[in-house]
Amino acid sequence: MNRSMTYAFAAAALLTMAGQAAFAQPAPRSTIAQSLTAPALPLSRVQDGVIPFPLPKDSQAYASIDGKKMHRYVVELADISRRYRDAGHPKFWGRIMGTSSDVETNEWLAAKFKSLGLTDVRTQPIDLPPQWIPKSWDVTMTSGGQTIHVDSAQPDYGDAGLPAGGIEVDAVYAGLGTEADFAGKDVRGKAVFVYSMLGLADQGGVRRASEKGAAVVFEVSMLPGNMRYQAYPSGANVPSFTVGNDDGTAVRRMIEAAKDGPAPKIKVSLDVEKVPNKQTALIWGTLPGATDETIYIAAHKDGWFDGASDNGGGVASMLGLAEYYAKIPKAKRKRTLVFVGLDGHHNGSDGGVGRRWMVANKATIFAKTALFINVEHPSTIVTQSRPRYYPGDEIAWANTYMPLEWYAGGKSRPELRKITWDAFKKFGVPVEFDPSPTPPAGDAGVFFRFLPAVSASEYHSYFHTDWETPEIVPWTGLEATTRAFANIIDNVNKLPLSTFQRPEEPAPQRAAAD
Ligand SMILES: [Zn+2]
Repeated sequence: MNRSMTYAFAAAALLTMAGQAAFAQPAPRSTIAQSLTAPALPLSRVQDGVIPFPLPKDSQAYASIDGKKMHRYVVELADISRRYRDAGHPKFWGRIMGTSSDVETNEWLAAKFKSLGLTDVRTQPIDLPPQWIPKSWDVTMTSGGQTIHVDSAQPDYGDAGLPAGGIEVDAVYAGLGTEADFAGKDVRGKAVFVYSMLGLADQGGVRRASEKGAAVVFEVSMLPGNMRYQAYPSGANVPSFTVGNDDGTAVRRMIEAAKDGPAPKIKVSLDVEKVPNKQTALIWGTLPGATDETIYIAAHKDGWFDGASDNGGGVASMLGLAEYYAKIPKAKRKRTLVFVGLDGHHNGSDGGVGRRWMVANKATIFAKTALFINVEHPSTIVTQSRPRYYPGDEIAWANTYMPLEWYAGGKSRPELRKITWDAFKKFGVPVEFDPSPTPPAGDAGVFFRFLPAVSASEYHSYFHTDWETPEIVPWTGLEATTRAFANIIDNVNKLPLSTFQRPEEPAPQRAAAD
C-alpha cells in the first residue's frame, strides 16, 4: 500500500480487504485533511488559503523575511525523509540520526549556510552510542476465521525485540488502562490494548499492563484517522506499540464480536537492532557582528517521518533569520550571530549528544551570550478533532496557525519576557497568555538554566506522526514567527549584556520533555 493510500483511504482499504468488513470503521470523511490524495495534493490549496498577518507599518524592514520561501525548505527537508523511506525503510523513517538521511540533512544545511553567506561553516562530527533501529515488524489479529492487519502499529522507541518468528497470544481489551479497567482481568502473557488520546491525562496504562504481566502492549491513539505515531520509550519492560484509531477500533470490534467464544489471537513479530559506531553532527555557521558578544539561533535537524513541523519548520525559520541578517552590513549587526543545526533528541536517552557537548563547553561557547533562540515547531496548522455536528470521524483544519507554548528567560529576566511577548503580539504569533509553567520543552530545556533562552513551540495532533507533512506547516506562521524572532534579536541588541546574563539557576524538579 503506498503512502497516500495509507493516509486517505485507510478506512476504505480496510473495507475492501477480505475478512475485514465486519470490523472496519465506516467513517465518512470530508475535510481537507482527509483529502491528502496524490497526485492532487492540496498543498497549494492550504498554502493559498491561510491568512497572512500584515506587516506593521513601522516594521517594513522585515518584509524580506518570506514565509513562502521558508516553506520550500520544509518541503526539501521532507523530501530527504522520503528518499530515506523509499530506500528500503517503509515504516521507521525520517531524518534519523546516524543514518543516510542524517548525512544528507547535514550536507543540505551546511550548503544552505554557505549559500546564504555565513562564515566559518563547519560540520562537527559527534559520536553516537549504539542506535536503536527497528528493522521489521508485523501485527495481525485473527478471530472466527477473519484477520485484521494492524498496519499502523509502531514500536515505541527503544523497545526490545521479540524472538525470531514472533509470538502468538490472546488479545485483551483494557480500556483506558486504569486500575479499574484491569479489575477482574488476567492479562498475564497476553496482548493488552489500552486506549488514550491527546487531551486525556496519561493514565500510565502501558506500564501498568506490563507490570501486570502482559506479553506485549498496544496503545491506541483515539485521534481520528489511522496515524502511525512514533512514541518515546514507554517505560514498560515488554515490547509496546502505538496504534492508529481506525486499527484500534477494528481491534476493539473484533474483541467485542468474540465475547462468547475464544479470545482473538494476536500475532506479533519485532526485529530490532542496536547499531554501533554511527555519527551525527552539529552544523555551525556565523555572521560576525560589530562586537564579540553573541546571539545563538539553534534548531534541531532530526525528525520522524516528514518531520515537517518538528523540526522542518524550525530549521526553515533558522535559515530565514540567517538570510535576513546576512544582508545587513556587519557594522549594523551589533552582536555576532551564531547559527547551529543541533543533532536532535528524538533518539531518547541515546540522543542529545551534541547539545550535551555544548553544555559541557558552555564556559567558552556562551561567555558573552545575550540571547539563545531555540527554533522548534514554530508553525502548525490549526486543527480540531471531531468538530461538533460534523458527520465524519475526522480532524478538521482551519486556515491559520496554532498558538504556541513559550518561554522567554524566566522570572529573572522580565525585560526579555516583555520583548518576546510584545514581538509575538506585534507580528501575529498567537501564544498562550502565560509562559510555559515548566522549563521549556525541547532543546531549550538543557540551556535555559544558564542562558537567556527564548523558545516557542507547538505539540499538537500530528506531532511525531506520518501525517506531519509539509501541508500542516502554514507559510504564514513561519513568516510571523520568524519576523518576531528577528524583532526580538533587534530589541535585545539595544540593551547591554548585563540585562540578560544571570548566574546559573538550580536544576528544576522535573526534567523537561522533548
Ligand atoms: Zn522538536
